[in-house]
Amino acid sequence: MIQYPKLSMIIDGERISGEGRRTHAVLNPATGERLAELPLASAEDLDRALDVAASGFRLWRKSSPQERAAVLQGAARLMRERCEDIAQVAVLEQGKTLAEARIEVAMNIGLFEFYAGETFRIYGRTLVRPEGMRSTVQYEPVGPLAAFAPWNFPIGNPGRKLGAPIAAGCSVILKAAEETPASALAVLQCLLDAGLPPSVAQAVFGVPDEVSRHLLASPVIRKLSFTGSTAVGRHLGALAAAGLQRTTMELGGHGPVLVFEDADLDRALDTLVAQKYRNAGQVCVSPTRFIVEDGIFEAFCDGFAERAKALKVGDGLAPASQVGPLANARRVEAIDTLVKEALEAGARLETGGERLGNRGFFYAPTVLRDVPTAARVMNDEPFGPVALINRYANEEAMIAEGNRLPYGLAAYAWTQDSARQKRLAAQLEAGMLGINTAMIGGADAPFGGVKWSGHGHEDGPEGLMACLIAKAVHEG
Ligand code: NAD
Repeated sequence: MIQYPKLSMIIDGERISGEGRRTHAVLNPATGERLAELPLASAEDLDRALDVAASGFRLWRKSSPQERAAVLQGAARLMRERCEDIAQVAVLEQGKTLAEARIEVAMNIGLFEFYAGETFRIYGRTLVRPEGMRSTVQYEPVGPLAAFAPWNFPIGNPGRKLGAPIAAGCSVILKAAEETPASALAVLQCLLDAGLPPSVAQAVFGVPDEVSRHLLASPVIRKLSFTGSTAVGRHLGALAAAGLQRTTMELGGHGPVLVFEDADLDRALDTLVAQKYRNAGQVCVSPTRFIVEDGIFEAFCDGFAERAKALKVGDGLAPASQVGPLANARRVEAIDTLVKEALEAGARLETGGERLGNRGFFYAPTVLRDVPTAARVMNDEPFGPVALINRYANEEAMIAEGNRLPYGLAAYAWTQDSARQKRLAAQLEAGMLGINTAMIGGADAPFGGVKWSGHGHEDGPEGLMACLIAKAVHEG
């Protein structure tokens, strides 16, 4: 078993440890025990990181696609070699199962490899002009980014914040979540060991509001990339607006799942239960509101509850565990309150609805049915292991419920009717839609939301375009 590493920040390639700095205790969510102390950035640390990011951008914007691809390919190779260590560290600090953490490493490798290829495809355009004149559109890296990554995918979120900007020729100051710093540092270390100049990507930690205010107040930062809650996204968006920095916002969701009478019920249930309780439900694209057509409602509720009850909850490092703890004590409190409020409002509990064990942050896989629309859990993102199953009369009512909330990240539908599939694809307000599947992402596919779920994309060519700016050059 791996030892949890000593923590630091990485500024200009230098490991900055705690001496003289405030620190934050990182806990193992399976036990509640302290793993290590994380140093928090001072204002001087952040100023230094900004100066370095400015020089890193001057350097990296001139790099060739070959250089950028070599770094991303090399980092992917190192990640493959270090997969087991990185996955175990992620489990220790975040709680998910080892199997899930290994998949997260694999997805990050895929993303770096995709962007290693994509960096060669930053094309421009030549416009038609009279002889003797020439007009071109060229794409340039947007500039240094401030990138804030949350704790739910401790490997994948930092990987996303680094991969596309590096492929585009930007520099990045990454502030990953203070709950899960070691995974982020391991991802960055792969890039540095693969030859990324140290000024191009750095990692700081701190009091989130202090760090974001400091970085976004600097004219060095030209873009903000944030993944997290809608409330924090709004706050950061306002800070970025003052400096007219570009933004990519990957915010909350409340995944509607429309299940019609003609669905393949067993396949739907197997897929949806696995997807619901993946990462203990702490996934922005988690299926949350199960909007089920009248005729299969009872069978769906029974099948869902039976499968949820059978899930083995435990320490993510134990081979038998299928669901780990929640990431921190805040989440247990939040989920428990939402469930209790729903029950008081008249929802029916099929299974779960309670904390598990007397140490760590475990919560039972929970299924609620007949949940009143007014209950808070039907409106606020639960971000935990809670499924909400309600009955609807027909397609029109189901689509209306699917679009009821101001969120629009992922939506899902289960139906074998191809004409209906097309209507749903046209009418559901979401950035990503899975029809008869829960696989809604991939290195080559744009990942992002609409409405309060944010704007812009990560992954795919769209994620690279979001790190580029167009310049029109006209020659007479
Ligand atoms: P939170 O809203 O306090 O924080 C969410 C994330 O934003 C955390 O990673 C946090 O470190 C970061 N953050 C908070 N304030 C910040 C600031 N001023 N500047 C920069 N970063 C800041 O909530 P939390 O308790 O950590 O997480 C719970 C909620 O966050 C969930 O209910 C969910 O809606 C949302 N969340 C979403 C995602 C996602 O993938 N979209 C991931 C994690 C959390």
